[in-house]
Amino acid sequence: MDFQLTEEQQMFREAVRAFAEKELKPRARYVDEHAEFNWEAVRKMGPLGLLGLTTPEEYGGPGVDAVSATIAIEEIGRGCGSTGLAVAAHNGLCCAPLARFGTHEQKERWLRPLATGQGRLGALALTEPGAGSDLSGGVQTRAIRDGSSWVLNGSKMWCTNASIADVIIVLCRTRPEAGTRGLNLIIVPADTPGLTIGPNEKKMGLRGSPTNALTFEDCRVPYENLLGEEGHGLQQALITLDGSRIGIAALAIGLAQAAFEEAVNYAKERHTFGVPIAQHQAIQWMLADAATEIEAARLLTYRAAWLMGQGRPHTQEAAMAKLFASEVAERVCFHAIQIHGGYGYSAEFPVERIYRDQRLMTIGEGTSEIQRLVIARHVLK
Ligand SMILES: Cc1cc2nc3c(=O)[nH]c(=O)nc-3n(C[C@H](O)[C@H](O)[C@H](O)COP(=O)(O)OP(=O)(O)OC[C@H]3O[C@@H](n4cnc5c(N)ncnc54)[C@H](O)[C@@H]3O)c2cc1C
Repeated sequence: MDFQLTEEQQMFREAVRAFAEKELKPRARYVDEHAEFNWEAVRKMGPLGLLGLTTPEEYGGPGVDAVSATIAIEEIGRGCGSTGLAVAAHNGLCCAPLARFGTHEQKERWLRPLATGQGRLGALALTEPGAGSDLSGGVQTRAIRDGSSWVLNGSKMWCTNASIADVIIVLCRTRPEAGTRGLNLIIVPADTPGLTIGPNEKKMGLRGSPTNALTFEDCRVPYENLLGEEGHGLQQALITLDGSRIGIAALAIGLAQAAFEEAVNYAKERHTFGVPIAQHQAIQWMLADAATEIEAARLLTYRAAWLMGQGRPHTQEAAMAKLFASEVAERVCFHAIQIHGGYGYSAEFPVERIYRDQRLMTIGEGTSEIQRLVIARHVLK
């Protein structure tokens, strides 16, 4: 057993941290206040490999290992939650399923430009107005085969990156009579006639990460845009979520780490009763608990990533990492605000934004209740 990151992984962390410190952190408040996507920084991520992460070199990515990819999302999230979510979704929800299930032609056509940062980002649309946790029973968006095309009708909700995407992978029901075998993932170019991308949702946090509703009205794409084998869409979506939940756990850790660092610095500077508040035991306990929980979340998350990288089962471990890390982020950010007192409630201090940003982590890509359900299924089987 070896808990040491390799030299390569450590160097990668340092490089991404330096990038995030320079390009993301100084602009995090602005992108939140103005609900503006940080394109300037994201454009610079292509040459650094941050838009390809685990995508094999053969298709233009850097092909980093799964632990390094997790570290990258953590460090980006430490700098800016909004940009972290966009990059996590691009890599984990779009590049990853293309790399895993796509044909050589699909990878050349769709994955290579995404992974090399030529053009815009990628997205995955699973959720619908009536279907989030229950995708198998709830998905209504229809794709009907018409000769050499699929014709899509229906609507999706809460699609991260949709308005800044070139490519959206869409979960559709192709054969309602086939139950869970009647769902498929279909690659839809964002400029396809018949696809309308709604305005950016007004959100509590992560405002610099666009989230959109989608409407499909006789939206026609070639039959060969089917991703992977017909009838396997739900299974592919669940496999994709196993991986991308590790990314959300990493993002939660990055946000918790950022809030923790703010709290430590503030505790050393703020004085009450003649001493820095860091000298009060109540404050020290909050910091000690935060440091311990962040480390525990990190270990669970890196382990899940390592298992994934080894090609070993990781459904339960990814759910545990996501469940724990997201709930740790909530507690750590809550206490970071407490340590700041009244100033923590002010938008002048980063902990206010980070607290709002982290709130999604127990919801997106499967709520905490769904993670517990996944874990319980494994425990009880
Ligand atoms: C900012 C943001 C970005 C997002 N990005 C994407 C994206 O890129 N692509 C995408 O497809 N989706 C995306 N989503 C959607 C997200 O994945 C869903 O919101 C999430 O999976 C929950 O689904 P729901 O909102 O429909 O809640 P519901 O499924 O309606 O759940 C409501 C409540 O009931 C609970 N619940 C449901 N079923 C059970 C059960 N069996 N047992 C116990 N409790 C249960 C849930 O835990 C929750 O508390 C995003 C959402 C947000 C807010």
